[in-house]
Amino acid sequence: MRHLDQGIDRFQREAFPAKAGLFAHLATTHRPGTLFIGCSDARVIPELITQTDPGELFVIRTAGNLVPAYAPGADGVAASVEYAVAVLGVRDIVVCGHSACGAMTALAEGHDLSGAPAVADWLRHADSARARTMAATDGHDLAALVRENVAAQLANLATHPSVARALAEGGVRLHGWVFDIPTGTVEDLAAEARPALAA
Ligand SMILES: [Zn+2]
Repeated sequence: MRHLDQGIDRFQREAFPAKAGLFAHLATTHRPGTLFIGCSDARVIPELITQTDPGELFVIRTAGNLVPAYAPGADGVAASVEYAVAVLGVRDIVVCGHSACGAMTALAEGHDLSGAPAVADWLRHADSARARTMAATDGHDLAALVRENVAAQLANLATHPSVARALAEGGVRLHGWVFDIPTGTVEDLAAEARPALAA
């Protein structure tokens, strides 16, 4: 924890003063243009890979960058999606997968998750991606699964009423990305054009 305290000291001493004007503006303004949905993985930092400032990205991070299809009830992911789209009015939504994803690796390699039942339940939201990958490859192609999963989560996203409404009105665009950790590259999957999103 000590390095976190040192980080806060450095932030207040160096980083904050450099952006004091921005933070003063943001004190009363919250108008991010993009909803970024990424994996909780510590190596995938939305603001770092997009070089964005505070205030620009509304971020949701979940294990495996999964977005459950819409279902009524209290749900943190659904509430955050709705707030970003219907209240903040974001114009773009990115779902970003990544290389060496632990969640996707567990699925691709069929790991025993009996010791992590909540993870096992959660990963069911990637079932359709796994089924498509199994049909197209031998099922163990991690890179293919990561891509299929991004497409599947974009399709899930489109089932949320706020997103469906914004899509119908042309108020929002969906994007599928994959971040490659060793090279730092971001692949745009152009998922908007995929048939899976037509429904
Ligand atoms: Zn991951």
